[in-house]
Amino acid sequence: MKKKQIHCPYCGAKASLRPASAVYGTATKVPDSYLYVCDRYPRCDSYVGAHKRTKEPMGTLANGDLRNKRIQAHKAFDWMWKSGLMTKWQAYKWMQGKLALTDEQAHIAKFSEYMCDRLIIECNRALENQRIAA
Ligand SMILES: [Zn+2]
Repeated sequence: MKKKQIHCPYCGAKASLRPASAVYGTATKVPDSYLYVCDRYPRCDSYVGAHKRTKEPMGTLANGDLRNKRIQAHKAFDWMWKSGLMTKWQAYKWMQGKLALTDEQAHIAKFSEYMCDRLIIECNRALENQRIAA
């Protein structure tokens, strides 16, 4: 497995693959769950999830504010397909069209706060249109 060196975008320190329990605590133990955590954690509160199988980072490291933003963006976006308005696949295509993203870029785990805001605005707009149509 090729090991990629990842750096924290906030402080520039290296980020290391660590079990999720290193951040969430052993009480909420999630087996086989890993995070890339800034080496300065907890002084620098920055991390991102890793894919279970490949151990590749799911996106860029995020601090508390960005993590909250991404959760909000995910909620807004998940409504698009969970509501039955479109399929999950269509929802990702819709997102790519609205925000001019490639397949590679269309992952909320890779979004900046700005992109999260834009996605939330687009989802709210779609929800509003849906209400008018209904
Ligand atoms: Zn850091």
